Amino acid sequence: MDKESTLSASNFIRSIIETDVSSKKMERVITTRFPPEPNGHLHIGHAKSICLNFTTATDFGGTCNLRFDDTNPEKESSEYQDSITEDVRWLGFDWGKSTLHASDYFQQLYDFALYLIKHGKAYVDSMSADEIRMYRGTLTEIGKASPYRDRSVSENLDLFQRMATGEFEDGTHVLRAKIDMASPNINMRDPTLYRIRNASHHRTGDRWKIYPMYDYTHCVSDALEGVTHSLCTLEFEDHRPLYDWVLEQLPIAHHPRQIEFARLELNYTITSKRKLSTLVNQGDVEGWDDPRMPTIKGMRRRGYTAAALRDFCERIGVTKKQTTIDVSLLENCVRTDLDRCAPRAMSVLRPLKVIIENYPKSATDLLDAANHPKDDSFGIRKLAFTRELYIERDDFMEIPSKKFFRLAPGREVRLRYAYLITCERLEYDPKTGELITVYCTYDPKSRGGKSPDGRKIKGTIHWVSAEHAKRAQVHLYDRLFNIPNPSSSDDFRNHLNADSVEVINNALIEPGLGDAIPGAHYQFERLGYFCADENRHSAGSPVYNRTVTLRDTWLKKEVIQK
Ligand code: ATP
Ligand code: MG
Repeated sequence: MDKESTLSASNFIRSIIETDVSSKKMERVITTRFPPEPNGHLHIGHAKSICLNFTTATDFGGTCNLRFDDTNPEKESSEYQDSITEDVRWLGFDWGKSTLHASDYFQQLYDFALYLIKHGKAYVDSMSADEIRMYRGTLTEIGKASPYRDRSVSENLDLFQRMATGEFEDGTHVLRAKIDMASPNINMRDPTLYRIRNASHHRTGDRWKIYPMYDYTHCVSDALEGVTHSLCTLEFEDHRPLYDWVLEQLPIAHHPRQIEFARLELNYTITSKRKLSTLVNQGDVEGWDDPRMPTIKGMRRRGYTAAALRDFCERIGVTKKQTTIDVSLLENCVRTDLDRCAPRAMSVLRPLKVIIENYPKSATDLLDAANHPKDDSFGIRKLAFTRELYIERDDFMEIPSKKFFRLAPGREVRLRYAYLITCERLEYDPKTGELITVYCTYDPKSRGGKSPDGRKIKGTIHWVSAEHAKRAQVHLYDRLFNIPNPSSSDDFRNHLNADSVEVINNALIEPGLGDAIPGAHYQFERLGYFCADENRHSAGSPVYNRTVTLRDTWLKKEVIQK
């Protein structure tokens, strides 16, 4: 990654770390972590957390750990883990040493639990989950002590050890911290530290019958790894006293600092793993990597670049205030990066045949075309010009409207990089009455598209040679939802945009595009940015996805709606 993209703007988290560093409170190397649960695929919200954790650490000369928070064996798998690892790498980050796991600390966490029991800070509760909930109280009512709260240390040790060896059914006992049932913070009313799960874990197999809870596991894992700043989303703010309480009870010298920030919310988008998996399971999308999904895999297949996602995460910044970001900001970051890195090409999505009557039948002219208008290092390519061509159906109008400057009867336009042509006559299908061919003449003196005598040509259109172009399937993607806040209701599926994908089977592309490697990006001139589909594209049958249009077409739609 180049230096530029790793330099972050200031934010409140950096200010806290700067203060910690300058006040010498922090003698350690600045260490953060990204702690995904391997129970689904990463989405754009996770990208924010990944970028924040990695760039903050790097900017302070520190490191960021990738640690799987794998404490729910029933929901987690190594497939998810591998997919997440691949996504973080693809985003451009490196965690140097090996990948870490909360499950690496199961033994240590267990020993610490015994320590808490021995010090009277934890007890085994044998109430049911429902009873525990009832005893916990509410926001306005304090909780009640469980009848098991005052079990002796030896009884607690005995029961806890037997929980660990699998003597009990799921749900019969839990280990709870002994804090304060009257605390105004419900998280402090004797939270559960361990529960029984007679389930196999994808890494530790059948070794454990009890699994530690998130709030207990996370702070201990952070401390053991020497994490200095544990950055998490705002919903954990009320859990911070518990984070600190656990570490204060245990014989661990290092105490990381938890800092909360607002999660990323994007309009027209869903950033909840549960809701995204509903879309997959209901068949609303083709899978987690459907190019319309806000997952890293989906966005990548759509053609979003890692640099664009990093740029977006940098621009939205980090705050404590929950706001919704406009998805067009993300799309603009994608445009900006692709404008820089995508070579230009010509493709015709809805072909209309053009025959240049005064051009020799078997001739081919090889014309120079720039691969990038702003960057000469992309070089030039040769475009074959022939008597029979295809242009975009939309670039022709039989009865042109006032602001239409492209091809029309009797009118002259420029074919990009080629010649000036004039529409002479039209041919229709005798049965359907449909326009099938536009007959034109060209001006041989206009090679390269230059006007030979200074006459004004208003329209420039793209084209492909009928003889040389290759047929391709093109997927035109649009936003998956048609309302700004689909996640506000549980009926988010009712707001799916019915036109979120259009498949065009007979598009015609420049010959070179057929041989592109899957994942390659192009700007199809005048049509948008496209990429060769990573799963479906091959030289024999090219498949392109539209990543994003050249301009924000939703802006227009929204203005019209108002
Ligand atoms: P979900 O709520 O969709 O199930 P999660 O947040 O529980 O997802 P994790 O795998 O636990 O998923 O998340 C890993 C990290 O990513 C956490 O630190 C979490 O705070 C962060 N994260 C998840 N969603 C967002 C978001 N929308 N914005 C910023 N950070 C997020
Ligand atoms: Mg989580």
